[in-house]
Amino acid sequence: MIQATRPIVLTIAGLDPSGGAGIIADVRTFVHFGVRPAAAITSLTFQNSERVFGATHESADSLRAQILPIVEEGPIAAVKIGMLPTADLVLEIARLLTETDLPAPVVDPVLQSTSGYALMEKEAVEALVTELMPLARLLTPNIPEAETLTGLEIADEADMREASAMIRAMGAQAVLIKGGHLNNGPERYAIDLLDFEEDVKVLSSEWIESPPVRGTGCILSAAVAACLARGMNLEESVVAGKEFVAETIRDAAGLAQRVAGDSENTAER
Ligand code: PLP
Repeated sequence: MIQATRPIVLTIAGLDPSGGAGIIADVRTFVHFGVRPAAAITSLTFQNSERVFGATHESADSLRAQILPIVEEGPIAAVKIGMLPTADLVLEIARLLTETDLPAPVVDPVLQSTSGYALMEKEAVEALVTELMPLARLLTPNIPEAETLTGLEIADEADMREASAMIRAMGAQAVLIKGGHLNNGPERYAIDLLDFEEDVKVLSSEWIESPPVRGTGCILSAAVAACLARGMNLEESVVAGKEFVAETIRDAAGLAQRVAGDSENTAER
């Protein structure tokens, strides 16, 4: 058995070769939080920063064959689950979580890319609700994802509370609804709702104006899994994850400003 000095965190997710989202973003996040990354691929996607062109999905057998040797070799301290395109893959993960000592996962229900490409089949969403949600440590939907999972329309904080209660009733131990897609009027701020252990916390943060940043959902769920592996409690993990996402967005905003400044300077010359 390998003796790891740093806890191992396993991501089960899609591979985005451009590195903006999926496994590469997860591994970057794991390294930032000082945990050792392990990864199993659910789908090889074809995409760049603009759009998704297609994907070939792994089979349930391939996913099992990737995960079992890792589980046999050493304790996995936390699991993050991202893109699960087919019902077969969802069911296989539910079986693996039940049969092995893998810890209850942080599940990011990735339904579609920012550019609008469907990353999960309808039957897979149904299997997620019935088979995977009851095994989840935390589910991290954004507003459109929470709307699809609950059938509710979510326009404000009260709707977010109703949706999170419904998702918990479906079996998830905890839910983090990310309110970044909510339009809060002229004074925009980001609110996220964490519903756990009979407590509901509203976590608000300043709205950072930036060009669209890819993979923020991947980064947040990976960060929460990494922090749980480091022994932080759920709320601390979510707060640390949100701070890391904010840092990533601030970096993107700063970079965009510098690029705009450079091109203005070039034009003046
Ligand atoms: N591709 C893969 C493999 C992903 O896992 C995800 C999100 O989790 C996406 C694309 C979507 O990322 P974005 O919302 O940045 O388009």
